[in-house]
Amino acid sequence: MRLVLLGPPGAGKGTQAAILSEKLNIPHISTGDLFRANIGEGTPLGVEAKEYIDAGKLVPTEVTARMVEERLAEQDAENGWLLDGFPRTVEQAEILAELLDRQGQKLDGVINYQVDEDVVVERMLARGRADDNEETIRTRLQVYRDETSPLIDHYGDALINIDADGEVEEVNARTMERLGQ
Ligand code: ADP
Repeated sequence: MRLVLLGPPGAGKGTQAAILSEKLNIPHISTGDLFRANIGEGTPLGVEAKEYIDAGKLVPTEVTARMVEERLAEQDAENGWLLDGFPRTVEQAEILAELLDRQGQKLDGVINYQVDEDVVVERMLARGRADDNEETIRTRLQVYRDETSPLIDHYGDALINIDADGEVEEVNARTMERLGQ
């Protein structure tokens, strides 16, 4: 299965992705995690990405798309994946579509985790990641509204809307049910 996870920052995509990845036996590919790993290792990509991430802005698409393409070319991603954090703009969605086209593959679904903004702010402040201070959160929510939310219309019928408010297990159960699993 090839799935994309959408939703505002703090919607719980990463948490849900980890569970889904195990249950569906497909790798969880998170651009946020890939960036953080690069930052931790001090790679040139990490150094470049850190500036944007700390400011709550999007890392330039050229950099992000290359990183994703390389990751998707790895062997464990041959038969499916769960993409978390990419695409985040319509431009990135078009890049992903071209990539899939070239390989004669298609997306099986786009899961859209829906949750109110006050809930996501609360969750992000509670988890306390380096880029989770109030100002950065505000910027990321604005970036989500401006650049990522248009993907909801873009994907149209492929979209699987899931209410992401509730216990982790409950949200997972809703997702599995909608995936017919
Ligand atoms: P969250 O789900 O809370 O938004 P992520 O871990 O997915 O956090 O992403 C952290 C940061 O990494 C983002 O705020 C952004 O700066 C950068 N990032 C992640 N994915 C992308 C992407 N597809 N394009 C550009 N920047 C990205």
